[in-house]
Amino acid sequence: MAGAEQAALFRLEIIAEEEDFDRVSGLLALGAPFGWEEESLEGGGTRFVIHCESEDHLRRLRDELLTAAPQAEATLETVERQDWLAAWRQFFTPVLCGSRFVVLPPWLAGEDRFPGRIPILIEPKSAFGTGHHATTALCLSIVSDLLDAGRIGAGQSFLDLGTGSGILGIGCAKSGLMGLGLDIDPLAVDNARENRALNGVPAASFEIGEGSVAEAAGRSFDLVLANILARPLMEIAPELAAARAAGGALVLSGILESQADAVEAVYRAQGLPAARRTIEGEWCALVWA
Ligand code: SAH
Repeated sequence: MAGAEQAALFRLEIIAEEEDFDRVSGLLALGAPFGWEEESLEGGGTRFVIHCESEDHLRRLRDELLTAAPQAEATLETVERQDWLAAWRQFFTPVLCGSRFVVLPPWLAGEDRFPGRIPILIEPKSAFGTGHHATTALCLSIVSDLLDAGRIGAGQSFLDLGTGSGILGIGCAKSGLMGLGLDIDPLAVDNARENRALNGVPAASFEIGEGSVAEAAGRSFDLVLANILARPLMEIAPELAAARAAGGALVLSGILESQADAVEAVYRAQGLPAARRTIEGEWCALVWA
């Protein structure tokens, strides 16, 4: 983009029927990993709003959504930059996860409204993981609960597979654990490193690298976190299950509730017992701890 266009921002609004909810949110998880707003409508159905600087990206996303959910209504429009900044800042509100964490955008770093909570500062950028997506919030709440229960604690090791913005690893490192974050997307790796610095987490407490579970081969961790999606979670089950230290905890997220049985079965085939499930909306996390 050049010149004046650089200042432009675009908004895609989708109104979807109840039965298309899973399809639309699944596609948004892939095509709008930077986040979106969701509002249940009184007469049923949901309004999804996605802001993005690339009109082309939103146009492609709209076309994909309308192919998957032809009954949906879509509106694509330009937003004034000033409105956008306000909307952006309004959207990235603090997110409380479990008893321990609060996820904040950097412009709220100075807020002391959350005494006793560990702040996780995340610059809302292209990498997934601002805390506004249910799967991220689920993982952080589970980490918080495991810390509360003394099931995991300072000095232990973690693996954050599919680190995205680095949000989960930062939460673990700020809780005294030490570990490794991996992502196959180089932009996510850069973003995770930026967020690590923003949070004052030393690289030695939270190592971040490009790649998948193979990069962690031969190592095992007291806590293994993977908020990816059902299919890749199933594909890497042998390696991921092996990354868990004996007696360690494993948390899998990014799974639609309708997919949870299939994912759990693949991990049980690796010798794991039945998982505990935590549900949030249509999303489900599988927990072995
Ligand atoms: N952990 C963050 C981000 C989750 S989004 C959070 O909880 O919010 C999922 C991330 O996993 C994306 O950044 C994607 O690039 C990455 N990813 C997908 N498949 C992967 C794989 N097989 N190995 C490592 N990273 C993967």
